[in-house]
Amino acid sequence: MFAVEPVALFCRICFVARDLQYAYTAASRVPRICAKLTQCKIRRKTAERPLIAGVRRYRIGHKLDMSITKIAFVGHIDHGKSTLCGRLLAESGAVPPDKLEDVRQACSEEGGVIDYAFCMDAFCEEREKLMTIDITQIPVRIAGKNYLVIDTPGHAEFIRNMITGACQADAAILVVDAAEGIREQTRRHAAILSFLGINQCIVAINKMDRIGYNEHDFYELKRNVEELTASLGITPLHIIPVSAMHGENLMTRSKAMPWYNDNTLVEALTGLHATEESSKDLRVAIQDVYSINGRKIAAARVEAGCVHQEVKVMVEPDHAELCLSDIIKYPQSVKSAKSGDCIGLVTDREPFLRRGQILCNPDSRPHVTNHFWANLIWLSETPFKSGMSLTLKLLTQESGCCIAQIKQRTDSSTLEDEATEDQILCLSDIGHVLIETDKPLVWDPFKHIQEMGRFVLESDGKLVGAGTILEA
Ligand code: GDP
Repeated sequence: MFAVEPVALFCRICFVARDLQYAYTAASRVPRICAKLTQCKIRRKTAERPLIAGVRRYRIGHKLDMSITKIAFVGHIDHGKSTLCGRLLAESGAVPPDKLEDVRQACSEEGGVIDYAFCMDAFCEEREKLMTIDITQIPVRIAGKNYLVIDTPGHAEFIRNMITGACQADAAILVVDAAEGIREQTRRHAAILSFLGINQCIVAINKMDRIGYNEHDFYELKRNVEELTASLGITPLHIIPVSAMHGENLMTRSKAMPWYNDNTLVEALTGLHATEESSKDLRVAIQDVYSINGRKIAAARVEAGCVHQEVKVMVEPDHAELCLSDIIKYPQSVKSAKSGDCIGLVTDREPFLRRGQILCNPDSRPHVTNHFWANLIWLSETPFKSGMSLTLKLLTQESGCCIAQIKQRTDSSTLEDEATEDQILCLSDIGHVLIETDKPLVWDPFKHIQEMGRFVLESDGKLVGAGTILEA
């Protein structure tokens, strides 16, 4: 516990907002490794593309407006995610006209048609590093609704970043190249959407121009996509034939595809909505405790539900009861705080709070156990072998742990089940696993309260896995 000035506490509480926004934020801190091939691709995508300084971008962990619908663009590399995002931004007016003109000019100097993907690779810092492995998030207003467009990397090396992007999303656009069809990352990204519980999904069959806008080929690919998504328990809301490059079926109905009379991409987008709070049950994660002018103040974030002053709460995993004498939403005291709020909590009596504890209502308690079944995606080049020492992080809780059993193991690129006798997990495998922790953890099933049911695994301080909890 530290003695700090109120202003330092405020800074700390602001930090909590970033720190706790998503458990998977840790995934963004992974070392930046890429193969030669990837570097070539990335270099093309960044170094050559002009800077669009007028486009605003949110970093991972930025506190987001919960009323905005956050949409992740996912799919195999080169299937046109950035072009589709860029064209939507340009046509909806999010890119300032002078900047769009810069892009137009740069493209015409190279003798080509305008490459709307340039609108996404807009930042100096990444151009200098010659890599776009981070996710890009851009707020945009389309047809009167606010969205946050999240462009995720499609290359296998950056699967961790794809997960970081996708786990913030309310909905996803799965982009599939009409000529290439379903590829390895299409299957993997679809599996990750299912893994993350993102069930608002639109499929954009892109590059229809490459197959001559052929109706028969579209319906055949549509059937294959439906088979894939059905096997993962996802029902796409729409499957739309588009051409990002030529703007077909994006803002207006395509004249090149008169046989298609259903929604354009923008019409389909207006049907998406921000995810509603998964539960009314109270869950507050304690980040740190400070001593200010003789008062102990805990910096915390409300993960679910609503917390009230002078109302009894339970402190887990200690099973202790507590009454909060004050709630501070800097700079003033408030009677209550709701999901997403970063607050200071004051208690006058014991038990005093500490990092890692979770506050809840006495009548709706989370699970407190040192074992649970989970779905886990393995994110390290080094395969998991039993006996490997791991650290589990769930919100502000941290514990040593082991994977005690691998019941099922799926190769996420083929979606085929693999043998489990050797009890190993390779890069991007998804396992149904039993996790045992060194100390009791406070959790809820992912499907009940997402924030309380997702975790990351680290080995030697490096991220090696991300999981969602199923049951005890
Ligand atoms: P990403 O890796 O999925 O983000 O793909 P990009 O947006 O970078 O696009 C990859 C390549 O496909 C680029 O050369 C684009 O110009 C091209 N592309 C994107 N959309 C279309 C389209 O609708 N038609 C055609 N013919 N090419 C496209």
